[in-house]
This record gives sequence, structure tokens and C-alpha cells, in this order.
Amino acid sequence: MPKLCKAGKQLREQIDDDYPDRDRKSDGWVADARHVAKGTSDHIPDARGIVRALDIDANLNAHPEETYALVEKIRKCAKRGDKRIKYIIYDGKIMSPILGWKRRKYKGANPHRSHFHISFTTLGDNDGKWFDLEGDRDERLKEDGGKLGKDIPSNSVSDLSSSRLGCRCDCKCGSSISLA
Ligand SMILES: [Zn+2]
Repeated sequence: MPKLCKAGKQLREQIDDDYPDRDRKSDGWVADARHVAKGTSDHIPDARGIVRALDIDANLNAHPEETYALVEKIRKCAKRGDKRIKYIIYDGKIMSPILGWKRRKYKGANPHRSHFHISFTTLGDNDGKWFDLEGDRDERLKEDGGKLGKDIPSNSVSDLSSSRLGCRCDCKCGSSISLA
């Protein structure tokens, strides 16, 4: 029996909690026969039956800009170092670790306007912990001004994620300790 990876279940649950009345018509996770025939999709269950992709209907039953805001929250969560997220596609754009999660033009046949797609890495197979979508830690530092708000280079994502294990406060003491 195919099953959605735990990270996918968790993310969908968080979105459902925030938008209980959202439209689910374009939701999906496990590939249909057409997808399977094409052969390459994270919607296709692997040998163990795990599906590492989730489609969420773009109609959240809220202001349309909310959808962009939600996708942006997921993108930032990934950029901050949640490596369970592999890539996101929405409205003709793909976001992935390439170019540090910058929005790039998506050249696939389906521009993904009725739904957005999230692919997960194998790290999300059994890891269903909470996605820190509201974190925006670096944004807050920027708003607070001062030199603490310096951009973290995208190649130091691993420093950031390891620092997050040891240090939950809003400063970057954890990352400087791990660099020292
Ligand atoms: Zn999809």
C-alpha cells in the first residue's frame, strides 16, 4: 500500500490547521496511472511504497495572495535548513537548493497554477516533526537592524541547521560556536 512520507503528512496537517475551509479538489499525493507511465515523479511510490510528493490546491479559500505567502513560508523554511523539503513548484516557478532557493522559471509542461507541488527528500520518510513555517529568524534579525542581520550565505545552511539543534534563541551564537 502506498503511503505519503511523514514529512508530507505533517506539512499537509499544518496547512489544514491554518486553512480548514480550503478547497481540496486539486490536492493529491500518490501518482495516477498517467504519472506512473511517464516514469519519473516523486508521486510514484518507491519500492517500499513511500510517496515523497504532495500537491496542495491553490485555493485556500482565503485571499489569493495567501497562497503566495504560504509557498513563501515553505520556501523560507527550506532555505533556513529544513532539508526534508526537496523542491517546490508553483505558478511557473521552481524553488530548490539550486541558487539558494531562489525562485526560478519552471519549464515543465504544467505550470502548476491550480495547485502547488512539494517534493520531499528521504529525510522526510520517517521525520514528521513540526515545520517551522513562521520562523523567519533571519528576517526578524534584519528588522531589528544592526550587524546581526547579515545574510547567511547559502553554502552555510548546514552550519545553520546544526546550530539550530543546540541553540533555540534568536541570536546566532550557536552558529558562531559551531564555526569556531
Ligand atoms: Zn505534484
